[in-house]
Amino acid sequence: MGPSLITSKYLRLVCVYISSATVGNGTNLSFWGDTWTPFGPLLHFIGSAGPTVLRIPLSATVADATAGLSWGMQIDPLCCLCSAEVETRHHLLLTCHFSRCIWENVFLRLKLPPLLFRDWNHLISWTLVQNRSPPPTLRKLVAQASVYAIWKQRNNILHNSQVITPLSIFKIIDREVRNSISARRHRKKFKDLMSRWII
Ligand SMILES: [Zn+2]
Repeated sequence: MGPSLITSKYLRLVCVYISSATVGNGTNLSFWGDTWTPFGPLLHFIGSAGPTVLRIPLSATVADATAGLSWGMQIDPLCCLCSAEVETRHHLLLTCHFSRCIWENVFLRLKLPPLLFRDWNHLISWTLVQNRSPPPTLRKLVAQASVYAIWKQRNNILHNSQVITPLSIFKIIDREVRNSISARRHRKKFKDLMSRWII
């Protein structure tokens, strides 16, 4: 994987996951080795060149790597999806009624009862459940696509004042999941995923 792809993947992660609040107990988590995002261990997701290219030592904790980063230039502390509550990572991605509407569609598609993620760790552990219905590979794909789509929508509103309905966002997630499965269909773990996702 080339440096530019690593950087864009990393930036995506930083944008989505690093809130102004502390990342859980980030002082005990290895930035590269632990599963603290739905993308799994970042050394595996970004690749072994990651620590060098991004100048984040292999021994860095999540707290080390994310110190000083924040949501960015946003002045208004309110969630731009609902304008009703303060924007935290937890609210924006998990409990905002806008995001919940998207998650409900996701669960409906997965033929699972609707689930309200209590917190970030709850989402991570949900992606790791060793269950065939659906298997963790699909859970991870869906969680990645959903979190990223919600984050993109937040930026769309913030920077372009462009509002898209939760249902339209679910359609984007649907397409993203299909594309991801399709691109890896020859891998054993991905073989049956399309039928699990679309039927
Ligand atoms: Zn909200």
